[in-house]
Amino acid sequence: MVFRNLTNPTAHGNCLVMQHKITWCYLCGSPDGTTSDHVPPQNLFPEPRPTNLITVPCCRPCNKKLSNLDEQFRAFIASAVNASERGNGIMRNKVFARSFKRSPALKKQMAKGVLLGTIMTQQGSTMVPLITVDREVFNPFFIRVTKGFLATFYHEINYFGHTFVVSQPSQFSAEHLLFKTATSQLTANERGDGVFRFWHRVEQKDGCAGLWIYQFYDAATFIVRHGTGKASESLFRDSAPEGGGI
Ligand SMILES: [Zn+2]
Repeated sequence: MVFRNLTNPTAHGNCLVMQHKITWCYLCGSPDGTTSDHVPPQNLFPEPRPTNLITVPCCRPCNKKLSNLDEQFRAFIASAVNASERGNGIMRNKVFARSFKRSPALKKQMAKGVLLGTIMTQQGSTMVPLITVDREVFNPFFIRVTKGFLATFYHEINYFGHTFVVSQPSQFSAEHLLFKTATSQLTANERGDGVFRFWHRVEQKDGCAGLWIYQFYDAATFIVRHGTGKASESLFRDSAPEGGGI
């Protein structure tokens, strides 16, 4: 993956500058942005939560649709093999102790998605249970997070006409050299220690192209590419729209 001529007018060093707050719903564009939504959801952060979590205006109908998905997503993300201690804590104290008790349906659904995967350890390869989740759940989730960040940090970009592509590289790839090389070319940010990191570049020339890498609990990693016009062509050219990744 090669980045050329990328500019990022709102990034100063490693610090993203929040732009003027939007007033419309960041998901549907309705002028009724009367509720506030955390991106990513605050339920992913153990208490006490960081004070610098990102919120964006959201209309009531959009906000209402989100909470079930958030809980399902948290169960998926916190189950990542190699998750940080923060991630394991969320799995223990929230997903097992609360979500699964409150919603046997969620527990059943998650159990259906368990499959065995192989990981390499110093002692050789070993089989571990991996929880998988439907693309129908995680694709909209990451598109939503990316829209929230665009509304917050790139408020001049009209992302409603953008194409968004989500991919998930192997959850063990964080130590991979390619991962390190790719993220070294991006602006890095984090919220919460060992909870959520993200890297990104946005190019605004001949259209718009953005690339965001999200990592939860130092383990589960996802990539979102988005854009429109000529600028986005080079970002989409290097990889297949589904899967692949870095
Ligand atoms: Zn809305």
